[in-house]
Amino acid sequence: MSEMGKLWWNSVLAKGFINPGLSFSKSAMIFLLAKNGRVDSEDRRSRHCPYLDTINRSVLDFDFEKLCSISLSHINAYACLVCGKYFQGRGLKSHAYIHSVQFSHHVFLNLHTLKFYCLPDNYEIIDSSLEDITYVLKPTFTKQQIANLDKQAKLSRAYDGTTYLPGIVGLNNIKANDYANAVLQALSNVPPLRNYFLEEDNYKNIKRPPGDIMFLLVQRFGELMRKLWNPRNFKAHVSPHEMLQAVVLCSRKTFQITKQGDGVDFLSWFLNALHSALGGTKKKKKTIVTDVFQGSMRIFTKKLPHPDLPAEEKEQLLHNDEYQETMVESTFMYLTLDLPTAPLYKDEKEQLIIPQVPLFNILAKFNGITEKEYKTYKENFLKRFQLTKLPPYLIFCIKRFTKNNFFVEKNPTIVNFPITNVDLREYLSEEVQAVHKNTTYDLIANIVHDGKPSEGSYRIHVLHHGTGKWYELQDLQVTDILPQMITLSEAYIQIWKRRDAGETNQQGA
Ligand SMILES: [Zn+2]
Repeated sequence: MSEMGKLWWNSVLAKGFINPGLSFSKSAMIFLLAKNGRVDSEDRRSRHCPYLDTINRSVLDFDFEKLCSISLSHINAYACLVCGKYFQGRGLKSHAYIHSVQFSHHVFLNLHTLKFYCLPDNYEIIDSSLEDITYVLKPTFTKQQIANLDKQAKLSRAYDGTTYLPGIVGLNNIKANDYANAVLQALSNVPPLRNYFLEEDNYKNIKRPPGDIMFLLVQRFGELMRKLWNPRNFKAHVSPHEMLQAVVLCSRKTFQITKQGDGVDFLSWFLNALHSALGGTKKKKKTIVTDVFQGSMRIFTKKLPHPDLPAEEKEQLLHNDEYQETMVESTFMYLTLDLPTAPLYKDEKEQLIIPQVPLFNILAKFNGITEKEYKTYKENFLKRFQLTKLPPYLIFCIKRFTKNNFFVEKNPTIVNFPITNVDLREYLSEEVQAVHKNTTYDLIANIVHDGKPSEGSYRIHVLHHGTGKWYELQDLQVTDILPQMITLSEAYIQIWKRRDAGETNQQGA
């Protein structure tokens, strides 16, 4: 965990979000009992609560799991708006009620109904000055606001005075979840995907089979998108805590918060899980995920005779049906680009020279001609690939890691790529070229893996469409970055946007 992450985590513990355990003084209990008689008669609405100025917006944080800090129950949870902690209930002897008496904290927000209450008097507070708080808990976007998101360069000001660009905000590395954060950040900067999730109406009526937990992923991802793009947040960063809890649950702990995972594995699982939770199927039923990212390709496969066989026998076998080339058309959500084996050159000073490869060399895998050998434990195949459909947003995963029986190796080769104007026309089959009008792509997100395979860390470069500028995000830190710096990194996952008819490059680079 980074220093920032540690500080943040400690403050969470100090706030009591995680560790329950409060004791009550005797006098508080007596006071409680003494008040018992009055509460019911005062259960009425009021527009004028005298305690509104005790609300402390700087301690309010609604990114945490909505559970009582004492009972750890999710049921009927309230936030104390004076100290920020969550407590259950508001009836007599409930944890929120006792807290209000013991600490003289009086203003509470029901985290589910979004209603405000004054305790222990127990009346509902209706006051428009509290709207900013409900908005932070549950940001919403109109169609008009969504349509303008990529056109504006307006900075927002957080409660502590820091300024931020909505959408370009840090995500906490709670323990070892930066692999997931980088992927979530990248996806949050893909406009059509983001826009779909910003509007809950797009998916809230999707029917799921009873007992299905996977829809939680959809709900949490939508909430995270709205928080990341919230123009009125109290702080200039967001915690992915609830989103990641859904990931841990839905992936049956394949992906965790406390153990570094692989960004590509996570991306692949997440896109498929989102697609099926939204009601998509393998073949027919499309969703926003496939609309945005799915392309297709032809895979040509030829079986090879065993290399140890005598030449004559090999020759014979090649006439058999089994050894003839077959072709299947297959969809993809991302393209895996293979790196050439990294040679271990050293310079005069015995420093390892990091090899470089142009992007177009590794894209040649998809030109329909290049053959690549694949081995299973008993058979060998030659495969070649040709693209037949390019999606609006194309994901490249650069294969840096190879697993052998004992350890994972990382290939540090730097890929040289232009960040705009990459034309993929030559990788399409001829008849598809004729109908595929736009084949030029510009980079919009670049996920980088630094360091060793198991203990490395992730950061991401994203293009802010409104300003046309690039930003680097690592945990809570956001810095602007020159586009030419992006190409010097160990890029691992990239998202490219297809230019549509008449569209020019927004980046001016
Ligand atoms: Zn409190």
